[in-house]
Amino acid sequence: MHFGGIYEDEIVGKVYDRRLMRRFFGYVLPYKRLVLGCLVVLPFIAAARLVQPWILKVAIDGHIVKHQMHGLPALAGWFLFVIFAESLLNFAQVYILSYVGQKVMFDLRMELFAHIQRLSARFFDHTPVGSLVSRLTSDLEVLGEMFAAGIVTVVGDILVLAGIIGIMLWMNVQLSLVTFSVLPLLIWVAFNFRNRMRTSFRQVRARLANLSSFLTESIGGMMVVQLFSRQRAEAAEFRRLNESYREANLPVITWDAALYAVVESLSSIAVALIIWYGGGEIVHGTLTFGALVAFIQYIERFFSPIRDLSAKYSVMQGAMAALERIFGMLDQERESDAAGEQKETQLPALQSISFENVWFAYKSEDYVLKGINLDIKRGEKIALVGETGGGKTTVTRLLARLYEVNRGRIAINDRDIREFSLKALRSRIGVVLQDPYLFSGTLAYNICLGDEQARARMERAAAVVGADRFINQLPGRFDYEVRERGVNFSAGERQLISFARAVAFDPEILVLDEATASVDPASERLIEEGLQALMEGRTTLVVAHRLSTIRDADRIVVIHHGEKAEEGNHAELMAAQGLYYRLYQLQFKD
Ligand code: ADP
Ligand code: MG
Repeated sequence: MHFGGIYEDEIVGKVYDRRLMRRFFGYVLPYKRLVLGCLVVLPFIAAARLVQPWILKVAIDGHIVKHQMHGLPALAGWFLFVIFAESLLNFAQVYILSYVGQKVMFDLRMELFAHIQRLSARFFDHTPVGSLVSRLTSDLEVLGEMFAAGIVTVVGDILVLAGIIGIMLWMNVQLSLVTFSVLPLLIWVAFNFRNRMRTSFRQVRARLANLSSFLTESIGGMMVVQLFSRQRAEAAEFRRLNESYREANLPVITWDAALYAVVESLSSIAVALIIWYGGGEIVHGTLTFGALVAFIQYIERFFSPIRDLSAKYSVMQGAMAALERIFGMLDQERESDAAGEQKETQLPALQSISFENVWFAYKSEDYVLKGINLDIKRGEKIALVGETGGGKTTVTRLLARLYEVNRGRIAINDRDIREFSLKALRSRIGVVLQDPYLFSGTLAYNICLGDEQARARMERAAAVVGADRFINQLPGRFDYEVRERGVNFSAGERQLISFARAVAFDPEILVLDEATASVDPASERLIEEGLQALMEGRTTLVVAHRLSTIRDADRIVVIHHGEKAEEGNHAELMAAQGLYYRLYQLQFKD
């Protein structure tokens, strides 16, 4: 199972309904005028619904049973007018609410995306991409449904229900009481279903996110899956997740259907009661024929919003579960710059970089770096070498503050790097990642990432690192389209593009995680020249795998099991015959 065992249920915290709604309300507030407009229309829609049975009653009692034709056409006309008006108002209201819903979703989506951009590397370490994507897509979609289903119209439904109860009591108290004897049961059922549904909906959302996490990963790694013929195993895992999603949906469907059936049965019982008791009253002359028909009409109008209400309720529950997940994400702590803290937005001209007794762990007490001390003077070139897993990449990440040190500090000109804003720090540091990441878009975009100043330096940057040689062969040169993750380039070319990117941003400090990828000899020479050009005149911290880089370094630092094992230049370390000497024998000799 490649799906790291990270389950959504663990990420999402429990949020209390009312707080959830209040918070959500904050997003609707900017559109309060439109929502208020809808609320104003609601009483009219409710009135239209209440008037229709009454027109029927007047027609029957005032005209039909008396065999009087005249007046009927007018009543029929009124009936039509009322229905027509109701439909029109309904349309306006649904349209406006959906419009507001789309606006709110748009705003939330923007906020979520902006927030995700500021989450820490630590967060991304333990959250699958797919689960983040599902928040921005399917969870938000469910919120949209809530608007479309017309949650605000619940207010209208309640008006109608209250109106019906009032009119029925006014028409005939006894018959009303008999009819409404089914209500306590209805209320009991509704409350009982409520709690169960909520849990189920949470599960549905979480498992859908699991499904999309798996898909993102599996499709992303399709080449590996196919090369190692793992399709069956992948499909089996997918089946498991798919199955669990399907199973999570079953209770929701069951409760939904059951609630519908219960409401339907109760409404039939109410109608039966009217026929039985009301029929008797007609026989005794205490109820008119038209009143009975109106009663039946009213009771149908009474139960139909309740039936809708149960449907709306399930949409609402789904939306609640989605809101929990969305707000849960928004509550995730942002990358280190704590709110309210004043940070310096300018870095002074570089004099020195120092790691002072730096301890760091990715997971609680599992230290990856154990008391690293390192001094780098302006213009120096420091090479980090050592076995894989020793902690070299981690050192580079800490300098760029992708992670925060647990103990000790990293300082620039003797000032803790945490005193500066992330933006200030990173604008001075150019990091070339071990595994260069390319976006889909033009080559130019991949080099300058949309930055104007970088754009101006782009062509020269490419020439400096020697990337121009292959770029000039491409149709359209810098306008050449890069595919997702740069699949249409060789590893060496990708590396050169990432060098060009670093030069285009012209950083003072260069942090380089040299690629381990073995490239062909021609590319190797290209990269080597590119590297030299890249480091020219900059303070450099480089994780080195290439002998030339190491020999040129002012100092070599051997990182071993998270500690600085040796430090010195090539000749010194060779003479010491320690770790570096052995590493050299094994790795660099030829
Ligand atoms: P190197 O670059 O020297 O090969 P790294 O700095 O990448 O070593 O890794 C040092 C140790 O930290 C390794 O044991 C690795 O498993 C662990 N590690 C690296 N990145 C993470 C991460 N994001 N989460 C947890 N552990 C990590
Ligand atoms: Mg590494």
